[in-house]
Amino acid sequence: VPAISLEGVAKTYRTGQESVTAVSGVDLAIEPGEFFSLLGPSGCGKTTTMRMVAGFEEPTAGTVRLAGRDVTDVPPNRRDVNMVFQSYALFPHMSIANNVAFGLRRKGVADGEVKRRVAEMLELVELGDRAKHKPGQLSGGQQQRVALARALVNRPSALLLDEPLGALDLKLRQAMQLELKRIQREVGITFVYVTHDQGEALTMSDRIAVMNKGAVEQLGTPAEIYERPATRFVAGFIGTSNILTGPVTGTGERARIDFGEGRHVHVRTDAAEGDRIDVTVRPEKVHLGSAEPDAELSRLRGTVREVVYLGSATHYTVDTADGTEIVVFQQNASGAGNLAERGGDVWLSWRPDHSY
Ligand code: ADP
Ligand code: MG
Repeated sequence: VPAISLEGVAKTYRTGQESVTAVSGVDLAIEPGEFFSLLGPSGCGKTTTMRMVAGFEEPTAGTVRLAGRDVTDVPPNRRDVNMVFQSYALFPHMSIANNVAFGLRRKGVADGEVKRRVAEMLELVELGDRAKHKPGQLSGGQQQRVALARALVNRPSALLLDEPLGALDLKLRQAMQLELKRIQREVGITFVYVTHDQGEALTMSDRIAVMNKGAVEQLGTPAEIYERPATRFVAGFIGTSNILTGPVTGTGERARIDFGEGRHVHVRTDAAEGDRIDVTVRPEKVHLGSAEPDAELSRLRGTVREVVYLGSATHYTVDTADGTEIVVFQQNASGAGNLAERGGDVWLSWRPDHSY
């Protein structure tokens, strides 16, 4: 059975005359031990979804299950999950050890057991030597790790983390991403991680649900979502995408958008001839050069507008003859330098199966 499942879960907030549908019919099954992310722009309903799993918010419709049990009407303190927020709200006057011990003591856990478990948790988050410090004596990243220890110490079967690293600067955030992943592997429990940062979700997750306007647009592994975005929204939200638009010529294997004079983009589509469709290709899949590419490839012509040399890679922005801007990422593995100069006329090409 899934650790967490949502079946047709929806939430509409009513304030006076106004009503806002924050979540509309979400179905999800999160497996035990999974590192699962909810990814989407601000306001898409991520926090509301998590609050319904934790029990802080009652769904307008649908069922929430934990380990198969219907908990839709069960209060938060009787659900076997814990939640960590961006603001970690530690007790400033209490030592780190007492902050972590707080929940266990309130539940009446015996003193020796509390000591043992607190020490174990502080080891896990690598703060064993800070037990007697006060929160104010620790850095932001260390305080967030205390919050994590506090959430894990009563051994929930799942931990919900709502943008927990949002307050940290980039370097620390990246270090903490790997740290969280290590901790999750060590404790082996289900983590549901909420973020609006696609890089963060791609780095950490076993699977990602991409949310938009209260609904899940795509569910898959990081590679599936990056390589095969299901919708234009997902393609635009995850990574950089080039999107070409035009009418379909031909059907089946021969379907393509034809721009004339040997320029065409192969597509896989069920659309009828003449329908306008979008075709997406990632910048790292596009090759750039002066020689005419094989006609079996998708190929366009254009003029280089911008060249940005980044050391390990060069990024080109190319204006095509059809008015579309194409971004190309070139790895500089060969050390041959830039393949084109600003203002140069170039061919762009990619394998037919590299666009979607
Ligand atoms: P996210 O976490 O993805 O940024 P939220 O779940 O916080 O999104 O919010 C989703 C939508 O629901 C937003 O339009 C937000 O303004 C609205 N919303 C969230 N909480 C409340 C509330 N308590 N009352 C009214 N509207 C709310
Ligand atoms: Mg939120």
